[in-house]
Amino acid sequence: MKQVCSSCKKNKDYSEYHKDRTRKNGIQRYCKECKRFLDKEGYVPKYRGKYIIYYLPKERYVGMTLNLKKRINAHEKRDRRDITGYRVLLTIKNKKIAHIVETLFHLFGFRGFRY
Ligand SMILES: [Zn+2]
Repeated sequence: MKQVCSSCKKNKDYSEYHKDRTRKNGIQRYCKECKRFLDKEGYVPKYRGKYIIYYLPKERYVGMTLNLKKRINAHEKRDRRDITGYRVLLTIKNKKIAHIVETLFHLFGFRGFRY
C-alpha cells in the first residue's frame, strides 16, 4: 500500500509513514522524513492557522503563539525560562478572541508578555 506524502508529494510505501489512529488509513499525512523536518521547524499540523494559548506551570506564564515549538524553544534557549510540563491550554482561530483570552489569564494573575 502506498500514499502520496502531503509535503514532498512522493508516492511512498506505508512503512515510510508513522502511524496515526485518527486517520482512516491509519498512517500520518506526512512521511517520516518530512515529519522529522516539520517537527524541527515547529510546525504542528493540528494547530495550523490557530493561535495557541500555552502555559508554563513552573513560571506561571501564559503566552500566545502561532508556532508552539519555536516559541517554547525560544523560551528555553533565549529567555532561560523553565518550560517543564508546558502545555497547550486552548487553540483559537480568531486573533482578537485569542488576545482577549490571553489578557484574561494575565488579569487573573498569570505572568506573560504585557502589551
Ligand atoms: Zn514526504
